[in-house]
Amino acid sequence: MGLKERFRPVLDLFFPPKCVYCGRLGDYLCRPCRDEAQPIGREVCIRCGNPMTVRSVCHLCRRDPPDPLRGIRGVFFYKGPISQSIRSLKYHGVQELATILGMFLVDYLREHPIPIDMLIPVPLHAQRLAARGFNQSELLAQTITRTLGIPTRNDILRRVRATQSQTHLNRVQRQQNVAGAFEPYPGVDLRGRSVLLIDDVATTGATLRACAQPLARAGAAEIWALTVARAHIHTVPGAGRASAPPADVFLLWDGERKRSAGMVI
Ligand SMILES: [Zn+2]
Ligand SMILES: [Zn+2]
Repeated sequence: MGLKERFRPVLDLFFPPKCVYCGRLGDYLCRPCRDEAQPIGREVCIRCGNPMTVRSVCHLCRRDPPDPLRGIRGVFFYKGPISQSIRSLKYHGVQELATILGMFLVDYLREHPIPIDMLIPVPLHAQRLAARGFNQSELLAQTITRTLGIPTRNDILRRVRATQSQTHLNRVQRQQNVAGAFEPYPGVDLRGRSVLLIDDVATTGATLRACAQPLARAGAAEIWALTVARAHIHTVPGAGRASAPPADVFLLWDGERKRSAGMVI
C-alpha cells in the first residue's frame, strides 16, 4: 500500500474528493454525473463497435474490416462526464478515476462476457510514460484484474515508436501514424491464447488495430478490444463517396455529421 493510499482517510478529511465534472464534494465522479454518462448499448457494428441504428456490420467495415481484431467495443459515448473523467485521469493525474472507469469495464464484461485469457493495456511510449508517470490503460486493466481475476500483462506488447497526436488526423492518416508503432517483446508466444486490448478511448480504432497486428503475428488466437469510451472524428466526409450505406443501417456518427453539415437525414 502506497503512502497516499495509507493516509487516504486523513487526506480525504482535509482534501475531500471533488467530482471532476460538476465539482460536488464526496467522490471523484459523483452519482448524478455517473448517471448522466451515455452508454452506447447493443446497436453497434459487430466489428468496429461504432454505434449504429441497427446491430450490423457498418459500411466502413464492409470496405476495410479491423482485422485481425475480432471486435472493438466501447462502453460510453465520449461526452460529458466520461470525456471529462478520461481527461482528468490522463492530463491531471486523478488516478482514482481509473478505478471508477475500470469498474465500468468490469460491469460491461459481466454483462457481455468475452472468453479471454489476458488483458493487454495499450502501451505508452517510454518517453510518454516517464512524463505522465503512469499508463492510464494499465490502471484500467488492473481494476479488471482485481475484480474479475483476469491477469493484466504489460510484458507482451511495447510501443517502439512515439507517434504524433491523432486529434487532427483523418481515418487514413491515423492508420499511417500508428503503423508499426507496436511490437511484441522478444520471445512472446501467444499461440492458442485469446487476448483483450484495453484502452481509455477509441476513435477509428487505428491504434487498437496497430496493437493487434503484432499480437496476431505472435500467434494470438483471438484478439478483442474494449475501451471506456468511443469518440468520432468531427469532420464532414468528402463528397462523392463511392457507395452510400443502406438507409436503415446508418452509423450514428453519419447522422451526427450530416446534421452538423446542415443535411437532412
Ligand atoms: Zn458530479
Ligand atoms: Zn464497423
